[in-house]
Amino acid sequence: MTKLICRFCRENLAHTFVDLGMSPLCESFLTSDQLNDMEPFYPLHVYVCHSCFLVQLQEYVRPEHIFSEYAYFSSYSDSWLQHAGSYTDMVVERFKIGSQSRVVELASNDGYLLQYFIRKGIPVLGIEPAGNVAQAAMQKGIPTVVKFFGASTAQELAAERGKADLLIGNNVLAHVPDLNDFVAGMKILLMPAGVITMEFPHLMRLMEEDQFDTIYHEHFSYLSFTTVRKVFSAHGLTIFDVDELPTHGGSLRIYARHIDDAGELVAHRVKDLQDREETAGFERLQTYLSFAEKVEETKWSLLAFLIKTKRQGKSIVGYGAPGKGNTLLNYCGIRTDFLDYTVDRNPYKHGKYTPGTHIPIFHPDRISETKPDYIFILPWNLRHEIMGQLDYAREWGAQFVVPIPKVTVY
Ligand SMILES: [Zn+2]
Repeated sequence: MTKLICRFCRENLAHTFVDLGMSPLCESFLTSDQLNDMEPFYPLHVYVCHSCFLVQLQEYVRPEHIFSEYAYFSSYSDSWLQHAGSYTDMVVERFKIGSQSRVVELASNDGYLLQYFIRKGIPVLGIEPAGNVAQAAMQKGIPTVVKFFGASTAQELAAERGKADLLIGNNVLAHVPDLNDFVAGMKILLMPAGVITMEFPHLMRLMEEDQFDTIYHEHFSYLSFTTVRKVFSAHGLTIFDVDELPTHGGSLRIYARHIDDAGELVAHRVKDLQDREETAGFERLQTYLSFAEKVEETKWSLLAFLIKTKRQGKSIVGYGAPGKGNTLLNYCGIRTDFLDYTVDRNPYKHGKYTPGTHIPIFHPDRISETKPDYIFILPWNLRHEIMGQLDYAREWGAQFVVPIPKVTVY
């Protein structure tokens, strides 16, 4: 086996955070004529660096392979659109972003966020490596460059189109294999008095709430605030504020600027969170090494629930076919022996099958046609939104099951 090296500090990786076994790429949904083919499975073995404490997955698959055609369209989630709209209002007001400013978003997806800036007459540019989702953005009138981002793309864009007053990256920092090159690129593309905001799932919440299903091949780094500060600081960027958000099971939104830009003072929230992480043991290796046991316990109790329910002769169907669902289904071995089918609002997934576990995916109307006893919500972070949408299922006595942090029936 080749020696494993930390993608931030280059130390050898010798400590397992959690090993979820072999799994297919979680966005590789199958068509019916692919069901009898071989499927590639890759390790979901997560390490923690004993030096910088970056929790990380090796680059088992090249990002070009994962992200060039992507099934995830941000605009299919109502609550995510609301989140994008209120973020836009907040940031425009706080940093005085106007028609003279320039907003650049990295991994701009289908333009779910930049559309709100355009409505305010603010010039934007999206950078998105997945051609099919970038196309959807361009159809909405959002200028988008189809590229992977890093230092060389940043240099090109800075020369050809100018730098950014506001540089946004939501749910991308964790998804870049070359973390150093990506953050170096942000440094290059940022105006001298510009502001970076980034959102990413918070490792502290992942560990506290046992969200092991947010581990998948596309997700290379699992970030604590402590480690992100080290990474930004190594690239000449200062994190001057942080918000804790409920999105994706608990995310951080960090605000950064150039280290020598005195425009923004460091908010007390930065120290508060740093202190809380230190108290929670995020500077001690042992804290990370105890996570794996918790994950096994969650698997056992979830399977115990499913087996008991099937023995009672009840029917269970899934709701949603998100990436995280596929980690959970594969790690726990949940196939059509437990879930008759799942549904999703994204028409791209209809008629397809979940990778590895081959559970068929239908339009949500299927639920009212088949009237199942239990609806197993895979995107548990959207459980309230989904239970609201499916309230009609209560009429025939259906109950909702949420698997994480522990099996709960509503
Ligand atoms: Zn390291």
